[in-house]
Amino acid sequence: MSASKTFFITGVSSGFGLALAEAAIAAGHRVVGTVRSEEARQAFEAQFSGRPGQAFARLLDVADFAAAERIAAEVESSIGPVDVLVNNAGYGHEGILEESGMDALQRQFDVNVFGAVAVTKSFVPFMRQRRRGHIINITSMGGFITMPGIAYYCGSKFALEGISETLGKELRAFNVFVTAVAPGSFRTDWAGRSMVRSPRSIADYDALFDPIRTTRAERSGKQTGDPRKAAQAMLRLVDSPAPPAHLLLGSDALALVRKKLADMTQELAQWEALTCSTDADAESEPT
Ligand code: NAP
Repeated sequence: MSASKTFFITGVSSGFGLALAEAAIAAGHRVVGTVRSEEARQAFEAQFSGRPGQAFARLLDVADFAAAERIAAEVESSIGPVDVLVNNAGYGHEGILEESGMDALQRQFDVNVFGAVAVTKSFVPFMRQRRRGHIINITSMGGFITMPGIAYYCGSKFALEGISETLGKELRAFNVFVTAVAPGSFRTDWAGRSMVRSPRSIADYDALFDPIRTTRAERSGKQTGDPRKAAQAMLRLVDSPAPPAHLLLGSDALALVRKKLADMTQELAQWEALTCSTDADAESEPT
């Protein structure tokens, strides 16, 4: 086993966060996990009461940016240096863009993007000064590929992919790694209790979107991916001396992202002449 590390994982009440906490604690690491209710806090600490000094819970809604900063400082001083930050907390908004309010977009970004950045900014100074750390941002294959009905979610995950990759370049010189982990479809509460669904209101979208919504609800719990295997993969990632900037999880994610990249490569080639026609020294009309 690798040396014991301290993890800070947001959203450990279910899904990936809980699976990773369980796997990390079983492997001998220490985990500080965040939850959103006193009941969940007690449940988390009770689950690991047989592993004293390895599991700690803190209350945090990641959209409360000031609380994130307060908790990071408190954890660093009272529990110890955090080696691995996992920005896992997040949820999916499902809804046709025209039918979904700006408030839903705001909340999606508050949690999935701004919350993750707020938590990250709270730990970066400690990691940079220590010249050590690994930040894992749980994005999604929806940070690479898109489908109708999840524009706000994909937007949030594309944003987190971009921020994550950029931050990795800023922190590389300080021996702090940043990895965006992009899962495919996994058996968590994501498409069940956690999903926020905007109501339908425009019949024009019925044919496109109704089958997508129905299929997603029906497949919840039967997705391809196993979060416990994702947790083991993330422990291997954390052990790597040279972690990647991006890691896909799941064969579905791999196939869909490969297709997206191939389609994009083809589209770039198809429009190459027009693309290059805007250079200052280009001929006036593309050939
Ligand atoms: P999940 O079982 O619903 O777990 C989500 C966790 O995030 C819960 O602990 C939830 O806490 C927490 N959370 C949600 N909003 C929060 C907030 N504002 N502040 C703090 N915590 C919050 O689903 P999951 O699949 O494990 O989701 C984890 C991450 O994986 C998310 O970022 C999700 O977008 C991403 N992801 C999931 C899939 C998939 O197929 N499952 C695929 C790609 C990416 P509560 O219990 O309090 O709600």
